[in-house]
Parts: sequence; structure tokens; C-alpha cells
Amino acid sequence: MQCLNCENRCIVADGGLGGCGQYRRIGETMVECYPDRYLLACPIVIETMPMLHFHPGSKFLQISTVGCNLNCPGCISTTLVREMDPASSIMQQMSADQVVATAVSQECRGIAFLMNDPLASLDTFTKVAQAARAAGLLVGCATNATFTERSLSRLLPFIDFINIGVKGLTAQAYRSCGGRSPDAVLRNLRLLHEAGVHVEVACMHRRDNQDELRNLAHRVAKLSPAIPLQVMRYIPLESADPGWEPTILESEALVFDLRKILRHVYLFNSPGTDQLDSLCPECGEVLLRRDFYGPMGARLLAAQPGSCPHGSAFLDLRGDAVVGAFREGDFQGGYPFTRALEIVQSMLIALGVRDAVEVVRVWEKILNLQSLKELHLSIQQPSAYLATLEYFGALTGRQARAAALIAYLGERLEAVARGLAAVTHRPRVYYAMGKPLFAIKGPRFENQLVQLAGGDSVNRRLDLSGRPGMSIDREVLNALNPEVMVISAFLSCPVQDFHAECLRLGVDVEAVRNLRIYTPPVPSSDFGGPRWILGLLFLANILHPERFHFDIARESKDFYGEFYDMPFVPDHLNRSFGKPSNTWCWTRT
Ligand code: SF4
Repeated sequence: MQCLNCENRCIVADGGLGGCGQYRRIGETMVECYPDRYLLACPIVIETMPMLHFHPGSKFLQISTVGCNLNCPGCISTTLVREMDPASSIMQQMSADQVVATAVSQECRGIAFLMNDPLASLDTFTKVAQAARAAGLLVGCATNATFTERSLSRLLPFIDFINIGVKGLTAQAYRSCGGRSPDAVLRNLRLLHEAGVHVEVACMHRRDNQDELRNLAHRVAKLSPAIPLQVMRYIPLESADPGWEPTILESEALVFDLRKILRHVYLFNSPGTDQLDSLCPECGEVLLRRDFYGPMGARLLAAQPGSCPHGSAFLDLRGDAVVGAFREGDFQGGYPFTRALEIVQSMLIALGVRDAVEVVRVWEKILNLQSLKELHLSIQQPSAYLATLEYFGALTGRQARAAALIAYLGERLEAVARGLAAVTHRPRVYYAMGKPLFAIKGPRFENQLVQLAGGDSVNRRLDLSGRPGMSIDREVLNALNPEVMVISAFLSCPVQDFHAECLRLGVDVEAVRNLRIYTPPVPSSDFGGPRWILGLLFLANILHPERFHFDIARESKDFYGEFYDMPFVPDHLNRSFGKPSNTWCWTRT
């Protein structure tokens, strides 16, 4: 028989599994294999989903299971959709009524299914949606929307909002994800909009798909120019080609163009951009001000929809905006949770783990102990980081490898410390992510590296909230007057663009005047995975060129050879925290 949950329409023999591995045919029915089992059920602010024009700032209960009906290259949720074991002991069994009761007890405005696709758990989500609607809660999801008409008709009566992730407008874009074509997604977009569901559309911006995004904006505008479009600047993760990553300025230029087609177009994955704000088109007043809040996320900072005569009507908001009603902790809710899993994975890979199943067993241990918060603290200090490696070494029976890695890192930490003996001047260093005014929080690892490399981290003088920091005023940065500026190796920016932005914004500091702006040459080498040692050596070189001359290329080759058992090929390095290269393969998944 054919499974009619999604447009893959798998033909499944009796007793067999469908292509996504989430449904089994029993007689003439496709039965969900892991019903009512959740990886996450935790409160978030709706912008974390992300959803920008629906009850802005309100608290919702995030629910996530595991698995997906598609398999997109470079998926940010790979840990959840491909690697996590759906039968794992960390999956919480909860009935639909229990999910609703949790949302009510946490004072959530509603329930949102996100991070993996509800199409992997359609019966479970439909039951929750039905129970939530009966309890007066709002319900929505983030999805690839490859529903068949039949499966959509089951869900449609119970949902209030939806974020549709469009993969492109060609059959090829869908085939690269294991799907068929965009036709059904566009049909569903129309059906949902016509049914009165609040729809926002999300699409990746890669270097090669600008025209597709323009076409998509025109297609959406035909339905309604008021439908918000979320442009996700592509972060090359997992097996993705690093060459697909546009710069923030390239994505901003595209968003500027798309705003001529649609009223509300926003840019994600671009810390420091002002293109997450909603402005009145008549007077330019900022009606809703938002900031970057981790990958794929935003945070509402200020809301004054009625502050100009045209504001409220222009915004097309559903529900009132509230600011500061709730804030997630580090690693809690949204995609930062998957980053936590990847960081653990990165440590295990460096310890010699090559079997993804072994990684899952360690994730289970950490999540069962509810020790994500301790993990977050332990990866912010190199000394605690080394202790965490020792712990994972003991946990996986790889004590010798852990000792070798700790010794390797320790030797280099000592070499830098020795080189700094009697140093008389520690340059003031400012660490930004993306654009110049997005400051990384003081306690973060990047700023600890600055201190260890002989700098004076000015970020530590700022009182910043947000994840992993927040936008600051130009005057604040000017008053700090850093001698050196460093751009994060995760969500980065070419040095020339960063410098031009500083001039445009009026950032007048020594680092700009003396062109002392840098970004580590190895992606993701200043946070998360143990290759941060390469970031430390790079920082030591730039902060004290009279004392340090580490050969970063040779150090990178040595580190990759010794701990990843693979060659260091710069063209294969993308921005993954977990995997050391886009050619990484597990021996078993
Ligand atoms: S949900 Fe989609 S991918 Fe999964 S078995 Fe059904 S048709 Fe196949």
C-alpha cells in the first residue's frame, strides 16, 4: 500500500517500514512507530521557533520528537533527525493530555512543534493539536509542509500558525532532500492561507539560489504580500559545501530587494543585522525591534506597533506583542539545544569515537542526568573543558586517548602561558559575532581564549544578555576603544565587510583606525569542539606578534591527523561544531 502521510507516497509492503523509518504498515494502516515520545517539551518564546508576526514575545511549549520525512544536505537538525535513536530511553512518554497539561502549568499561550518535522510524528501531533484546541491553547508547527491533501485535512482544523520551510522552487531542490517537487508545498501554502491559518514562510539563502528566492517571494505575494518571509542565511553544516555560504552583506542586499515584493522580509543567522526589525514603510519608525538569538532564532527587544499612525495596520500582527515575558536559558529550546549535542559529539570524535550509536549513548547519559547546564558551564573555561574530556574518556573507555588529547592541549596552553611571561601590555580585544555591534557575552569561551592569549577582553566589562550575546550601541563600543577586534569563527564575516561596516556605523576605535580586525582561519575554532586550540594559537599570534609565530597550517594538519584521523583540507571545512569536515562519515549510524 501507499503511505499518504507525505508526498513521498512510499509504497510499503505489509510489516515493512516506510522510507522515513517512522511508520510501519500493519495490514492496511500505516502505524506510527514511536507514538507519544518526545525528545523535548520545554517552554520557549515564539520568536525562537521562529515565528515573528504571531503573538510576538509570547511563551509557547516547544515539543520535538526525532526523525524527518526528508533528508536535506547540511540539515541543522541532523543530530535529531538522523542520529538520535527514536527508541532511546531519553525520549519522554507523554499522552496528548499530559502535553497540554504541561503547557497549561507552564503558563504557555500554546504549543509549537519544531526542530524536527511533525510529519515524522503525524498521529502524535494531530492528537496534541486536537487536545490543545479543546483546552483553548493555540497550536502550530514548523514543517517542510510536504503533506498530502489527505494528511493536511486531518491537521488543518486544529492549527493556528505554521512556519513552512520551502526548499526551493525546483524539483531538483526537492530531490536533493529526498523529496519530489515544490508543487505540493505551494498547494499546501495556499490551502493553509485560505483556511485562515497564520503562515510564515522560511527559505535558505545560499550563494546559488537568489533567483529562486525572488521567484518564491513573487509566488507568496500572489497569495498575500502580508505573508512574512524569513530568509535563513545558509550556515554550511554537516556535509554542506562551505562555498554555498553567502556573506551577511550579500544576504542583506537580497532582503532589501525582496522587501520590494513582500511587506515583511527578515534575515536570520546574521548577528547584528537590523533586518530582523519591522519598520513603518511610511515614516521608518521601528515598530518591532529584534535581535539575533542563536541559529534560526530571533528575540523581541521592543514593541511599539502603535507608535506611528500607520504602524498597527502595516504590521499584520495576530495577537498582541509582549516583551520580556520569558527567556530561555543557554542550550534550552530551539536550535542551541542541537548545538549542545554537537559539542558533545565533537569531543567524542576527538577521543576516537567513530560509531554514531556510541555518541547517542553518551547523549542519553547527559540528558538523563539533566546535566546540559553543567555542560554549558564546563565548556566556557579551558581548565573545565579538559576535565570534561577526561570525564568523556572515562565514560567511553578511552582514557588513554583522552589523556593524549589533554596533554596535547595542555602543552600548547603552557607554551602560550610561558610566552606571555613578563608581558607588559595586554591589548584590549573586542569579540563580535557577525556584524560589529553584536558582542559575544563576557563569560563565553571566545573571551576566555582572548585572556589566555594575552589580551584584555573588553566584552567582560559588558553586562549582556541574549544568546550568545547581544547588539550594543555604537557609543558603548567606541567607549571601550578596543585595539583589536576579532570576528567569531562560527557566524563570521569577511574582514573587509566588517571594516566597511565599522566605517558606515561610525565605529571609531583603535582597531578600525589601525586595521587590526581578524577572524580565525579555521571555521568554528574558537568555541565548542576541541579544535579551539587552533583558535588560541591564532589569537596569540595576532595579539603578540613579537612573541608568537605558531604555524597554524602545520598545527591544523597535526591536530587533524592525530585526533580526527583525517587530513586537514581547508576546502572541506564548514561551520559544524560536531564534525571536523564535510567529508566526515560514521562507521555506523
Ligand atoms: S511519511 Fe512520507 S517518507 Fe514516511 S513512510 Fe510515509 S510517505 Fe514515506
